[in-house]
Amino acid sequence: MTGARKACVVGSGPNGLAAAIVLAQAGLQVEVFEAEPSSGGAVRTMELTLPGFQHDFGSAVYPLGAGSPFFSSLPLREYGLEWIHSPAPLAHPLDDGTAVVLERGIDDAAKSLGPDGTVWRNLLQPFVDNWAKLAPEVLRPIPLVPKHPILMARFGKTALLSAKAIASRFRCRRTQALFAGLAAHSFLALDELLSGAFGLLMAISAHGIGWPIPRRGAQSITDALCSHLTKLGGTVRNSSRVDSVSALLEYELILCDVTPRQLLRIAAQRLSQGYIRKLQRYRYGPGVCKVDYALSAPIPWKASECLRSATVHLGGSFEEIAASEKAVRAGRHADSPFVLLAQPSLFDDSRAPAGKHTAWAYCHVPNGSQIDMLQRIETQIERFAPGFREIVLARRAFSPANLESMDANLVGGDIGGGAMDLRQFVFRPTRRHYATSAKDLFLCSSSTPPGGGVHGMCGYHAAQMAVRSVIR
Ligand SMILES: Cc1cc2nc3c(=O)[nH]c(=O)nc-3n(C[C@H](O)[C@H](O)[C@H](O)COP(=O)(O)OP(=O)(O)OC[C@H]3O[C@@H](n4cnc5c(N)ncnc54)[C@H](O)[C@@H]3O)c2cc1C
Repeated sequence: MTGARKACVVGSGPNGLAAAIVLAQAGLQVEVFEAEPSSGGAVRTMELTLPGFQHDFGSAVYPLGAGSPFFSSLPLREYGLEWIHSPAPLAHPLDDGTAVVLERGIDDAAKSLGPDGTVWRNLLQPFVDNWAKLAPEVLRPIPLVPKHPILMARFGKTALLSAKAIASRFRCRRTQALFAGLAAHSFLALDELLSGAFGLLMAISAHGIGWPIPRRGAQSITDALCSHLTKLGGTVRNSSRVDSVSALLEYELILCDVTPRQLLRIAAQRLSQGYIRKLQRYRYGPGVCKVDYALSAPIPWKASECLRSATVHLGGSFEEIAASEKAVRAGRHADSPFVLLAQPSLFDDSRAPAGKHTAWAYCHVPNGSQIDMLQRIETQIERFAPGFREIVLARRAFSPANLESMDANLVGGDIGGGAMDLRQFVFRPTRRHYATSAKDLFLCSSSTPPGGGVHGMCGYHAAQMAVRSVIR
């Protein structure tokens, strides 16, 4: 590496690490500066409740991690990353004591969705069959000329619709409820354009990849990425917050795994007034309130089918979930919030002491909310699993401010790096995407395309662009 060109990355989230790996692959000498004592951003595992209980601080379930074109190109298995698939990707309990279970195989799913099976299959099969072609196209800025125009035109035609419009194709309220939960990952109101795209993508990934969890938790993804980076000659420096990029003069390239507000804080002196104004207009999305649980037993679901899935969506019918998401979009707190819950210890015994369990749950709230949602989250869990509170050994709740204090990118509790409405889907965070007004400075966080989720593709594309700018 002596004499190699030097680059640095600010922030060691999955996008920062992906960017660092691309830079190192291109022969640059790379250093990553991470503010927190441990690497990974929202991809870390910690003892957050009791000794021996390992909780994912941020992300927990990884359809896009396992299906990421870039991560799939890396030898992460060699560094200990192992995906675990629960028998079914998702369960969605209902008030009648049953659950809609989304099976991994599309044929099994179609069978279990009864009268809606054919519509479900027709909607998803072309994309499930072509995930390897679809993923690189959707996990990047919108291409002017797609590589697979027919597939993309077909996807775009449906994906632009609202979740409500797509759900109206289903006859059964059960299928509509299932689709509402999938689309609610968008943080959009379910009658908003693009909300359907998230529902589609979540469903396609459930069948095309599965919704796996990593053995030993999120940390094993970060550890594998860090190990690979080290092998390529890169270095990660934890507890090294960058307060100003003016301290990074020795680097030819600076990639920032931060959101626009933070970039303005650490680099305003390097940016043009026009670009600053554009970043100031960037909008953050709703936040989340999150709770981690140490449990004495598996969750006592009324519908025991819920024990087949690492992920459970709690919110009841399409209408209820739509009302919950609409309230949040309008800046209000839902009385009966849609809750996303993961129960990883059912499938990975490294997460809790023998016979004990962990659970991870969150609901959406207005950005920066200071309202304590713990009781509302637990009421929603109790609704489908009476007796839940009796098995809780310990709990730790995170307000948006608590989350942001452990990862500065979680601005106001926004876990997606900024609102993902139509405008910020196309211009994320500006029409320049990864480039800024300073030619050596790039953004590589989830505030760039393709946005939130653990896939590393923001970092991958940003670093590709950065490398092209210095190596011609
Ligand atoms: C509660 C929660 C649940 C989620 N669930 C899922 C899920 O199940 N599946 C999924 O795919 N995604 C999920 N996500 C979203 C996913 O984790 C994020 O989209 C992803 O981590 C974004 O990666 P990133 O690299 O852009 O940013 P981050 O992971 O946020 O990393 C940014 C890093 O930069 C560091 N940093 C910031 N400023 C500075 C500075 N000035 N100097 C040095 N370092 C700095 C931070 O400390 C942090 O380590 C979840 C997120 C949260 C919080």
